[in-house]
Amino acid sequence: MEVLTAAVDAIRKQKPRKIVVLTGAGVSADSGIPTFRGQGGLWRNYRAEDLATPEAFARNPLLVWEWYEWRRSLVRDAEPNAAHRAIASLGDALVVTQNVDGLHQRAGSQNVIELHGNLFRARCFRDGARRDAVEAFAELPPHCACGALLRPDVVWFGEMLPEGAFARAGHAVHEADLLLVIGTSGVVFPAASLVSLHDGLSIEINPQLSALSSACTFAIAAKAAEATPIIVEAIYAGTDRGSTT
Ligand code: NAD
Repeated sequence: MEVLTAAVDAIRKQKPRKIVVLTGAGVSADSGIPTFRGQGGLWRNYRAEDLATPEAFARNPLLVWEWYEWRRSLVRDAEPNAAHRAIASLGDALVVTQNVDGLHQRAGSQNVIELHGNLFRARCFRDGARRDAVEAFAELPPHCACGALLRPDVVWFGEMLPEGAFARAGHAVHEADLLLVIGTSGVVFPAASLVSLHDGLSIEINPQLSALSSACTFAIAAKAAEATPIIVEAIYAGTDRGSTT
């Protein structure tokens, strides 16, 4: 694949040290977790955009929680794939993810900014208090001890990102020598706007063209689990990080 070879050559020449990896749902597609857009993006004929909103929760919290319990069970049964593992092997890279599945951390990444929260936390609808929520709830919709509803601790369409997360991510993207953009459609803002803060080498990995492809130096048309290990190996080859194997 010509673009992949050209990207590997560029990495070898540049020997990047400060690396940021921006990921979206596509990086977890190879672990069997459906993306929102593209094949398999529907659940009981609902579009994600019609369920992941405060309005949908206000209208029908049971329906929204049923969808989240389905997603949580898929992720519980899934394993990180070769892309998550390769990214984790870049111990000092910052991972900025739109994903809520925690698979980067399960693969061993320690430096992760979760822009959109995490499926395995919930928060009280009344006072916002957060709690871990790893196991399936006995009853849906779940309630807090105070009697109010619990909601998933994720960022829904139209909501603000966690305080400080975007600023920290933006600063790191601006400072990075290399930005990897893996498995995102690039249509969810403000996450997608992070790419415009970077003016150095940037490499996208996505089997489809995305809204960010033309903003990246190289757009590799491949699955994350196939191309990411090759890109990470090239990063290792140019530095004193040692070997990934
Ligand atoms: P998206 O669903 O909008 O787009 C997914 C992108 O991944 C598409 O561009 C698609 O071409 C690409 N893709 C599909 N298979 C791939 C593969 N094997 N390798 C690489 N790329 C592949 O996802 P998004 O851009 O992350 O934005 C939508 C929102 O979806 C985010 O806010 C995120 O929180 C949420 N989401 C998260 C998960 C998760 O945590 N796993 C799953 C679904 C949606």
